[in-house]
Amino acid sequence: MKIITDPAEMQTIAEKLRLNRQLIGVVMTMGALHEGHLSLVKLARQTAGTIILTIFVNPTQFGPEEDLHRYPRPFERDVSLAKAAEVDYLFAPESPSVYPDHYQTSVTCGTLAERFEGALRPGHFNGVATVVTKFLNITKPHIAVFGEKDAQQLAIIKRLVKDLDIDVSIVEAPIIREENGLAVSSRNIYLSGEQRSTAEILYQGILHAGKCIDAARRDLSAIAAEIDGMVRSAPGFIPDYVSFVDEETFEPAEHAEKEKEYRLLLAVRAGSVRLLDNAKFRCR
Ligand code: AMP
Repeated sequence: MKIITDPAEMQTIAEKLRLNRQLIGVVMTMGALHEGHLSLVKLARQTAGTIILTIFVNPTQFGPEEDLHRYPRPFERDVSLAKAAEVDYLFAPESPSVYPDHYQTSVTCGTLAERFEGALRPGHFNGVATVVTKFLNITKPHIAVFGEKDAQQLAIIKRLVKDLDIDVSIVEAPIIREENGLAVSSRNIYLSGEQRSTAEILYQGILHAGKCIDAARRDLSAIAAEIDGMVRSAPGFIPDYVSFVDEETFEPAEHAEKEKEYRLLLAVRAGSVRLLDNAKFRCR
């Protein structure tokens, strides 16, 4: 595995790979690699012959009050995990080479980025969209794998690629969970042992939603309110939002229509940690 830090060098390598008819797959991460990230690499491998893994804690997607500086950066461990996953190139640039002096151009998202995470984290998705666009231009992949774990981000990236005619296939990867159902996340290390076991309440909420939908309930806002109540009953757990959205538009959905797909979005604060989870349902 080669470690590349210079965007121009990465771009040159990617161009050579393309000229040699290599199918390039990219997985973009902020590091502190875990099973979720590694599952994305595996999925990319199913299609691509050359895998580029990017690690970059992107400052432009963090708000001033957020955890940019305390975000975990276990680089040596990440290198070992990436090697073991048979990544071909690890692209890990420093911030000044991604955003050099006089940098001033960025991508602005539309209404998809206004609600939920976008409303709570102003500017976050513009930062994500900008760095994803830059990294697609740097790594020139044929496919790029993103996790359903960040469902709104995934929807925005699919929109971005369509809207800006970016020539890449976006592949969606399912959520990897811990044994108790908690979605694996780099930020889970901040949870105390007790918070970690209580955090199964989010998955319990998803299971509850599944049962309700299976029972042909259509009252999505009532189901979401029940799950909100379940989460609030866990000491120290406060939902930022629990809501169903239309899978196509990401608009909040109150009542389900037959045969349509909806996604339940959960964002919950447990002390200083925010937990995100979601699941897709088809109404009968
Ligand atoms: P992050 O490093 O948190 O920015 O995540 C990098 C990529 O990994 C994103 O596409 C995430 O959606 C994905 N990801 C994060 N956690 C998981 C998980 N538990 N299961 C599957 N994919 C994940």
